[in-house]
Amino acid sequence: MRVTWTTEGDVMRLAFRLDAEDEITGLCADGQPLRMATNSCRVELPRTPGEVHPDLRALAAWTIVAPWTRRTVTFDEPISPVLAEALADGWGVEAGPVGGTPRSGSRLAVSYSGGADSVAVAAMLPEAPFVHFQRVSHPRVPNRWTHYRSDVLARLAEKTGRELTVVRSDLEFTLAEPRPGYPEHHAVAAGALLLADELDLGGLAFGYELGSRWLGGDRYLLRYTPDNPMWAPHGAWGRAFAAVGVHIVLPVGGVSEAVTMRLALNSSLREQVRWCLRGVEGPCGTCGKCLYKELIQAAVERRPLRTAVGPKRPVARKWQEPPPYGGQEMIEYGCARVPGVEGTVFGRAAGFLGATEASTAWLDRCYPPAVEEIPEPWRKQVHDFMAAEVGFMSEDEARRVESWGTTRGTAQGTR
Ligand SMILES: [Zn+2]
Repeated sequence: MRVTWTTEGDVMRLAFRLDAEDEITGLCADGQPLRMATNSCRVELPRTPGEVHPDLRALAAWTIVAPWTRRTVTFDEPISPVLAEALADGWGVEAGPVGGTPRSGSRLAVSYSGGADSVAVAAMLPEAPFVHFQRVSHPRVPNRWTHYRSDVLARLAEKTGRELTVVRSDLEFTLAEPRPGYPEHHAVAAGALLLADELDLGGLAFGYELGSRWLGGDRYLLRYTPDNPMWAPHGAWGRAFAAVGVHIVLPVGGVSEAVTMRLALNSSLREQVRWCLRGVEGPCGTCGKCLYKELIQAAVERRPLRTAVGPKRPVARKWQEPPPYGGQEMIEYGCARVPGVEGTVFGRAAGFLGATEASTAWLDRCYPPAVEEIPEPWRKQVHDFMAAEVGFMSEDEARRVESWGTTRGTAQGTR
């Protein structure tokens, strides 16, 4: 893979060329096969960037081209030996040319999407500036996803009143299948990486919660994942970000989506919370994301489910089938707490899971190892917030995390 950045004013353009052994279908760090649509994209920064450290340019590019790279990646400027080593260890690729010295920075920014998880992070870190990624169309790829209202999300981010940098990019259209999106989950940070020198960033906080970090997330079903390649500090991506002096920080990595929902709804940013990518005046209420989040919100607010979605709708189909489910811990949590759940689209799932308030109580507390892995400069702030607002899991509750995916770790195993 050969990678070139060119800068014109406040726009940085990335072009990449495959080597003979590269292929246009590759694997994301989470194992998802990805097919490339096109080999160029742009990142529009709010201002003309000064000198961007070569390691930052290289890692920003790597978040886009990693899935399609087999053996070597050649950047347009020498990268530090530290980054080259992280890429060699993490991906088995030879990265170069090598030269120069690593960078470092000191501030922590929030990669802010506006969803409940990132609003919870924002509430924990009231001084941290936001960097928001906004999707824009690609000049060479038709946009069949016009219902995705990235403009609405960017406007909501502005209404938070926080120090905000919006980065606009078409990089998601480098991906043809399964759909436009980040080639690697970390591509959402491409703009933050390119601005890291200007913002003096030493860390970037993401809204990945307990399920994404420790329970396998959506794609690895029911699996305890201490060595998560995307988000563990010692995983491939954690080491690569650390190598460029922008540590991955997961302030809500120890708490479930029930806790992030509660923190977001109780925060001063409540009016700006939006997890739905479709609605304009409010969430659409009919997409799969809205349905899933409504279950969690209804559970947190201890009220019946409010949805017009019936069991025959495509977004509700998977809840009529037996588990396992992506995000199953939150389905268990919701089914155990929503009054009258048996008469809703989650009724069958509730029957299959048999979860109770007692069997899901661990999801109201913070998993201590998630705080221990926060980089030292920000650990105490996160620890003190969790101690005051959430509380920590007991050893027995922590074992629920660590046995997730074994019979013992599921609701069925504890009945
Ligand atoms: Zn929706």
